[in-house]
Amino acid sequence: MKAYLIPMIVALGASLSACGDAGNDGNGGNGGNRYDAAAYDAAAYDAVTADGSARFADEAALLRWLREEEKLAHDVYVALQGRSMVFSNIAASEQMHTEAVKTLLDRYGIPDPSAGRAAASFADPTLQSLHDALVARGSASTVAALQVGAEIEELDIADIREMRGVATSADVRATLDTLERGSRNHLRSFWRQLQMAGASYTPQHLDAAEFRAIAESAAETGR
Ligand code: MN
Ligand code: MN
Repeated sequence: MKAYLIPMIVALGASLSACGDAGNDGNGGNGGNRYDAAAYDAAAYDAVTADGSARFADEAALLRWLREEEKLAHDVYVALQGRSMVFSNIAASEQMHTEAVKTLLDRYGIPDPSAGRAAASFADPTLQSLHDALVARGSASTVAALQVGAEIEELDIADIREMRGVATSADVRATLDTLERGSRNHLRSFWRQLQMAGASYTPQHLDAAEFRAIAESAAETGR
């Protein structure tokens, strides 16, 4: 477990400071508001680390967490989809991801934590607070929304890499591979949109070299 406690530090390019937020123009060409670091809810991330030893204790715990973590990505992106067209495309991918995890839960007779839950509702209180904080933060501007997207993908990649230490079943490991590849592609998409908006981004969950290696490499086949 690492990096969850790193405080959010985001610096926007100086060229953005005079621009208003034009909302959804679909190509990231609008400026976005200056990011308000004070609005960042670090407590939500601290809460995620609090049960870090339990959430990936075994494959069942891992899959239950992953089911909701992929739903979280979907639900946050749906909530932010008015900010950029990139969100609705990626949300559709996250729906496939959370359903792939549901298939594994059903296969192994593991209760589904998302059963009967509406959008934006989570069984795990740490994921609930994380969702709520990310939607609130991402709603501030298009740039903030894209930064939330990048951060979710970083978190997903970091968690999936941690899950590999627990996952032993071939089908679970194959799903982790698929989901991590999707997250790498999503990270590339958000990073490209941030660059087009003239915004910078400080990695929160991967180290800078890892982040750059993914963000600046070519998209992979699959979603
Ligand atoms: Mn995903
Ligand atoms: Mn993703």
